[in-house]
Amino acid sequence: MAASNSKDVARANPFESIVGQSQVSRFLSEAQAENRFSHAYLFVGPVGSGKTETATALAKARLCPSGGCGECDHCRRIARGTHPDVHWVEPEGIGSYLTEQIRDVIRDSTLAPIRANHKIYIITRADLLRDQAANAFLKTLEEPPADTSFVLMSRTRDSVLPTLVSRCQTLVFRRLPDSEAIGLVCRQTGASEQDARIALATVGGSTKKACEFLASPSRKQRRLVAINVMERLGQSDSADVLDCASEMLQVVDAPLGEMKAKFEKERKNNEDFMTKGALNYLEKSQDRMLKSSTREGLTEMLAVIRSWLRDCAAVRIGCENLMVNDDCHYTIEKVGNQLELENFTLALRAVDKAAARIARNVTPQLVIETMLFDIRKVLYAGSCTDKV
Ligand SMILES: [Zn+2]
Repeated sequence: MAASNSKDVARANPFESIVGQSQVSRFLSEAQAENRFSHAYLFVGPVGSGKTETATALAKARLCPSGGCGECDHCRRIARGTHPDVHWVEPEGIGSYLTEQIRDVIRDSTLAPIRANHKIYIITRADLLRDQAANAFLKTLEEPPADTSFVLMSRTRDSVLPTLVSRCQTLVFRRLPDSEAIGLVCRQTGASEQDARIALATVGGSTKKACEFLASPSRKQRRLVAINVMERLGQSDSADVLDCASEMLQVVDAPLGEMKAKFEKERKNNEDFMTKGALNYLEKSQDRMLKSSTREGLTEMLAVIRSWLRDCAAVRIGCENLMVNDDCHYTIEKVGNQLELENFTLALRAVDKAAARIARNVTPQLVIETMLFDIRKVLYAGSCTDKV
């Protein structure tokens, strides 16, 4: 058997496997072949269009000595999200990046890479990089240290500050058809099509987040609790509704244990070779992620409820084939056939109102209780066991 020689390995192209974005894939492949990567890219495209996968491929292309072989320690760590030179920077404030968080990124970017010869920062919501945080970042983005590059991501270009856009090379991603997104999640996780569809609906369409969801037993459990509450709501009196809200809030923070264990492992894996400054950066960033996880948990629960309500509405208008939550089709069909489309529209509005209140940092308990009472009122006003 002809073993692959070093020449083959040197030709590794991690952009070939990007699904549904031939233009982006071709562009980055050429940049790699000609060794002219930009120091800052802006990836623009809807959720689920492959921006995350492409940023991962770019990290492999730049950090792996063979250009993204997929097999070496660098590539494996990048794929697992544990490479100490690949930083995924999520907004840690309420609807924005914190200035302190961006200052940490700037400070950290001046340190030498830890394991590779290059380091990369992926700003996942460039549209939320504004005001002081954006201003602090401009100079670094324009002239990053030689061994550092940035990827900014956003759903649209217009939502990103022009001063940031002008400092980046923009790549536009097209909307990925549902079937391709489902296929991608199935291939990456080994999940069934049904589970992949549920995961995508639960996380709002991002294939990366769908894969994370499928790997988390406590997040899957959290989804079931939210659906179970929706199924019971029609038979609930006011005391039951309050119990339902408490039950939902109890499971919101359930994945914290999993996250803490993962972070602990990440720190242990890195502490032998990380500098004190880099370790400090990692710890601070992990702490902030733990703090924002309650809000993310609530957001995910609301997405589950939205998806359940949309399924009921789909049944009402005779489009059962659009149902996402097939695993609970019996109740969805029952509720969908009992009520009018208007009821579901109003219930969805109650969920939107709750989402807006969470974004404004209203007490979660109050938000969930109000939402459940509102939904019960618009869905079951005539059939509740007490007056609503
Ligand atoms: Zn590699």
